[in-house]
Amino acid sequence: CPILGIESSCDETSAAILDRDGTVLSNIVSSQDSVHRQFGGVVPELAARAHLSTIDRVVQAALLEAHLSKQDLGAIAVTQGPGLAGALLVGLNYAKGLAYGLSLPLIGVNHLEGHIASAWLADPTFPFPCIVLVVSGGHTHLFRREADGQTVLLGRTRDDAAGEAFDKGAQMLGLDYPGGPAIDRLARQGNPKTIRFPLSRLQKSSLEFSFSGLKTSLLYRLRDMDAAARAAQAADLAAGYQEAIVRVLVDRAFVAVRSSGVRALAVVGGVSANSRLRALLTARAQAEEIRLALPPMAYCTDNAAMIASAGRQSLLSGQRPVADLEILPSLRPGAYASPAAVLTR
Ligand code: ATP
Ligand code: MG
Ligand code: FE
Repeated sequence: CPILGIESSCDETSAAILDRDGTVLSNIVSSQDSVHRQFGGVVPELAARAHLSTIDRVVQAALLEAHLSKQDLGAIAVTQGPGLAGALLVGLNYAKGLAYGLSLPLIGVNHLEGHIASAWLADPTFPFPCIVLVVSGGHTHLFRREADGQTVLLGRTRDDAAGEAFDKGAQMLGLDYPGGPAIDRLARQGNPKTIRFPLSRLQKSSLEFSFSGLKTSLLYRLRDMDAAARAAQAADLAAGYQEAIVRVLVDRAFVAVRSSGVRALAVVGGVSANSRLRALLTARAQAEEIRLALPPMAYCTDNAAMIASAGRQSLLSGQRPVADLEILPSLRPGAYASPAAVLTR
């Protein structure tokens, strides 16, 4: 039977419905960008309130687009964490109420498992084992994923996530929230070689990341420029800064591919929407004859289709629904060896 996914971990309210074979029937995403823009970042209390006022409408829209009614559903999957507690509570309580009312099984999903699952949404035959790079607002993590779902953490960021580096860099450049798309757009008019930023490579074979030095380096650059120079070179600054982030991401991902002998790479999470990153990954994968999974844009940033998909996989692999599901705001990807065990506690 169709499965309904609900996502409310941060600043997107989303509901999606997947057919019994995993086909996406609908994926409605209501972004709160306009709510948070004037504050330059997500305000947790406002996020929770916006979820509350939107969620029912979003779920109804997902049902409408899938030409289904509530009674047609067979299960509900909802994001349990990680994320903002107040925001998670809205989605989880809504899902609980709906599941209880309809006597449906309710599955808790790790948001990161959702991002990982997005790689298979548009490419169901993508092979295992594979390397998965999760690049989002809160995570920059390299995993090796096995066919049985086992997930080994290979490396992660020591400080900021790639998405954070984009968002903070954009703020320094005076660009609008969210910063990633803003830098992406501006960088297209600039030359990435005009203003070069240091690549935070750490050791050559390392699978870890570090972006705080890059951020500081942008800060110093801007400090040394007057307002006119900043404006004149904004596009080149954005292009150079973006280049330093995405080069390191591509580099590390392929170090992981090579050192593990795996021939498939999936790159998921909000930052995987970045046009320069997608271009570099595509070229490199082609040159090295590596199978690459890059989700379509709609599945890169937060969405409920990926949550429904991960929930569906959990159900298929035998995870039991629990009646008293609770939010897990600081659910960690380090505990990923057995995601199902983490999720059911
Ligand atoms: P997490 O998934 O780690 O809990 P999150 O859910 O907030 O965090 P996502 O929604 O997956 O993160 O991604 C949001 C991040 O992606 C933001 O940091 C945003 O700036 C970044 N992002 C979105 N589009 C682009 C783009 N085109 N280029 C670069 N970064 C982007
Ligand atoms: Mg967002
Ligand atoms: Fe996310």
